[in-house]
Amino acid sequence: MPKYNINLITARRSYSIKDITDLYGVSGKTCRRWISEEGLATIEGIKPYFIRGEDLIDFINKQREKGKIPIRENEFLCLKCHKAVKAKAGSEQIIETGKTIGKDNHKQLRKAGICEVCGRKVFKYLRVCQRD
Ligand SMILES: [Zn+2]
Repeated sequence: MPKYNINLITARRSYSIKDITDLYGVSGKTCRRWISEEGLATIEGIKPYFIRGEDLIDFINKQREKGKIPIRENEFLCLKCHKAVKAKAGSEQIIETGKTIGKDNHKQLRKAGICEVCGRKVFKYLRVCQRD
């Protein structure tokens, strides 16, 4: 998850999906996924959705924590399962992104697979140390 600046959020304000898309430049679709799949709380009984600033701050903090889930070499972080998962046997692919990382210009690789728990696509970025 990209870094969303929680200082932009006022805890005591309520936010519509439009407010959040304006604030962070995310799509309405992303925002609705946060609500439907990733546990972003909305104010009950109101549609279209409104989100309390404090809930939005909580959500973003939790998303950040997720980034800290330790993931082993053979695992991926599944955003649906909210945990480190293994990829289905045979589903893993490694693709060169064509980008390089860091001052040493390590090649960036994207490793993708299918979550063996929920079947959602999972991926992570790796870098290759070039030795010459
Ligand atoms: Zn999963």
